[in-house]
Amino acid sequence: MRENNGRQVAPAHTLPRAQASAPSQDLELKELDAMVAAPDQGLASEHTSGRTLAGSSPELLHALVAIVGAEAVRINEPMALHTSFAIGGPADYLVFPSEVEQVQSLVRYCVQHSLPYFLMGKGTDLLVQDGGIRGVVIQLSERFARWAVVGHPAEAGTAEGSPAAGQSSRGKYQPDEVEVWAQSGIPLRHLCELVAEQGLAGLEFASGIPGTLGGAVFMNAGAYGGEMKDVLVEAEVLSPDGQRRFSLSNEGLRLGYRHSVVQDQKLIVLAARMLLHRDEPAAIRARMAELWQRRCEKQPLEYPSAGSVFKRPPGHYVGPMIQELGLQGTKIGGAEVSTKHAGFIVNRGGATAADVLRLIALIQERVKERFGVDLEPEIRIVGEP
Ligand SMILES: Cc1cc2nc3c(=O)[nH]c(=O)nc-3n(C[C@H](O)[C@H](O)[C@H](O)COP(=O)(O)OP(=O)(O)OC[C@H]3O[C@@H](n4cnc5c(N)ncnc54)[C@H](O)[C@@H]3O)c2cc1C
Repeated sequence: MRENNGRQVAPAHTLPRAQASAPSQDLELKELDAMVAAPDQGLASEHTSGRTLAGSSPELLHALVAIVGAEAVRINEPMALHTSFAIGGPADYLVFPSEVEQVQSLVRYCVQHSLPYFLMGKGTDLLVQDGGIRGVVIQLSERFARWAVVGHPAEAGTAEGSPAAGQSSRGKYQPDEVEVWAQSGIPLRHLCELVAEQGLAGLEFASGIPGTLGGAVFMNAGAYGGEMKDVLVEAEVLSPDGQRRFSLSNEGLRLGYRHSVVQDQKLIVLAARMLLHRDEPAAIRARMAELWQRRCEKQPLEYPSAGSVFKRPPGHYVGPMIQELGLQGTKIGGAEVSTKHAGFIVNRGGATAADVLRLIALIQERVKERFGVDLEPEIRIVGEP
């Protein structure tokens, strides 16, 4: 099997367990103390607001740096910089692990010290409230994005622990089927391009979804008649206390409309295996381009948003109900019901989470009044008001 950089790697389940990496910069505790006192310097990112940290501690910062390295820790970081809505107050700590062991150590540390933690991907389905997020935000994104083609019938069974030749982990291979493994932080769009290059089809439906693979498993993301359920073989997950790593099959993930067991059990998706099939790269790219074209025509991609705000209620379509109510173009602060796609709320500049929440409440109230339908947000509302 082959990793995207061409390096040969073992299949997912036999990949060597990397040792927890040492901090890339060996900072003295006193230096860290100084940085907590002055969060706009040193470890803090260039984007840090400089607000005095509530409840920050040099020990915590030291521990985070020891786990992920100084360059992968930000303090008091505005979440507006890390969400597609461009909205959200500061996270006390935002960390970017690159190894499974780092994720595990971070989670265990937080649990042991009764610190809240929040796990995010690319922040494309999040409304982070204006007060920000207390505790530690763990972002699994580009730094946690290795991938590999596991194999097809001719290659399967060559590495220790891989399925027997001719078998996938879902049963007998079809001759043109191939399993692909990827870590959860890989952006879906990137993964779709990489597999298309390899002549592997099946993920085209997801090529315009802007989040990570982990977020897509969590949400059972879908579009244009496809959903993650159609391609997932299994996902490797971590228990919420960081103690147990195990795999869940497609069935075990209990994937439904924008739902998975990952949500109910508060699991952390580390990696996933998908079953794709061979096709011509040009044909795959053409299908992706066509879907992208359709997306551009329908969605207000020119403004920050978190995609469709509401789940589709059984027997109804959200957009037409909002359209019929004449709510498109309604604005509260910087938040507007999109004039291009009634199911989207867009940030027209300077929107706060409070603006978006008021607009959501208005839409819910009017839809309930006119259609008797309860709209449930699809976007995840997190953090403090
Ligand atoms: C313009 C636009 C278009 C969109 N179109 C679509 C579409 O067509 N179809 C669709 O389904 N969605 C769509 N979305 C929504 C969004 O992209 C998806 O829901 C996506 O799967 C979210 O992934 P993320 O990495 O951004 O997750 P985030 O927004 O970072 O997180 C979403 C939830 O997933 C959890 N999560 C993230 N990663 C992990 C992980 N590794 N382990 C455990 N939990 C995790 C978070 O805790 C959070 O609760 C769209 C969004 C935008 C902005």
